[in-house]
Amino acid sequence: MEKDFDVIVIGAGVIGLSISYELSKKYSVGLIEKNKRYGLETSSRNSEVIHSGIHYPTGSLKAKLCVQGNELLYEFLRENNILHKKTGKLTVVVKEDEIKEIERLYKQGIENGVPDVKIIEKNGIKSFAPEIEGVCALYTASTGILNVHYLMDCLYEKFLNNDGIVGFDEKVINIEKKNSIYLVETEKGKYYSEIVINSAGLYAEQISNKLGFNYEVFWVKGDYFTISKKYNIPLLIYPVPMKEGLGIHLTPRLDGFLRVGPDVEYVEKNYPPYSNEKENSIFKIEERKKEFFYNEIRKFLPEIKIEDLNSESYGIRPKLQKKGEGFKDFVIKEELSGFINLIGIDSPGLTCCLSIAKYVKNLIS
Ligand SMILES: Cc1cc2nc3c(=O)[nH]c(=O)nc-3n(C[C@H](O)[C@H](O)[C@H](O)COP(=O)(O)OP(=O)(O)OC[C@H]3O[C@@H](n4cnc5c(N)ncnc54)[C@H](O)[C@@H]3O)c2cc1C
Repeated sequence: MEKDFDVIVIGAGVIGLSISYELSKKYSVGLIEKNKRYGLETSSRNSEVIHSGIHYPTGSLKAKLCVQGNELLYEFLRENNILHKKTGKLTVVVKEDEIKEIERLYKQGIENGVPDVKIIEKNGIKSFAPEIEGVCALYTASTGILNVHYLMDCLYEKFLNNDGIVGFDEKVINIEKKNSIYLVETEKGKYYSEIVINSAGLYAEQISNKLGFNYEVFWVKGDYFTISKKYNIPLLIYPVPMKEGLGIHLTPRLDGFLRVGPDVEYVEKNYPPYSNEKENSIFKIEERKKEFFYNEIRKFLPEIKIEDLNSESYGIRPKLQKKGEGFKDFVIKEELSGFINLIGIDSPGLTCCLSIAKYVKNLIS
């Protein structure tokens, strides 16, 4: 059987694009995407934060790939003139009993190799953001923000320049292994390759099932509001993390306004992801959350007024932990010779896109 490509990558989100670009330096790569364009799902529905790596248990893939990915991403953004800002971030303690947790995070950050982490006293907080109130804070200098659309445009262009081939509007419906070659079948055709990478985001679990590898993935929605009033808050402001998620935080967007969120809401897998939002009355759902968001934010930004919050958008993460369960790591694994699964690529997936690509390259070589 003749192969069409050395590698087929399923899914053109930021992860599939990064892997395709990295592998196209050495292999012939076909990238298959069910939508009409790249990056229309989770990759364009997130906070656009370049995380530092303090939040993940030492030794986990998330910790390693985040610290490495943070550095690789800044380098790539600089080299390719992609809009971004290394703003830094404050995780603000608002109650004395949160101090222990901030000390634990500080220690974990150092152990994970995060550069420039320090504890800031109460008075120091004002020198970063005068309107923010807190008991003390943890500062990470390497946290920042980027424009994820420009990043994906750049990865896509570089992939094409390396003779990468893309099939849009092609949903993968089956995969089979025939001797040492994989047959990847879409609604439009059949393609053969030696290696298949499953980076199908929310649907990676379904693709994996086709070859008999079963995972249980949960869909966890996060809503965002925007603050209409301009504040002098040039860096990210986070609360001390909640049990699920990092807590409702403030992210300065590149247009100067503040984004608030996301929250953590487990939803059914038939939740209408990313289509006809307005018709799906998604904005009503967000309105129901306004008071909760307001109460979370005013703990460290007492000046905020509820009427300043406007519903913005939402994203859905594929999470491996059930509601109430603790930390779960990314699954990035060669399940069968030549078949690599990427399952549960939730946050900090965007930060890790380039380090994940290198990790996958190492797995196949
Ligand atoms: C609310 C929220 C906030 C976040 N904030 C951050 C953040 O600030 N920083 C950070 O580092 N990370 C963040 N993340 C995580 C980050 O967005 C994801 O880890 C990353 O975007 C995952 O990219 P992906 O390419 O795996 O998935 P996706 O972008 O979902 O791409 C998967 C692609 O596969 C395609 N596909 C699916 N099934 C098929 C099929 N059968 N055939 C063909 N194609 C298929 C889809 O159409 C899609 O285009 C956040 C996530 C959410 C939801």
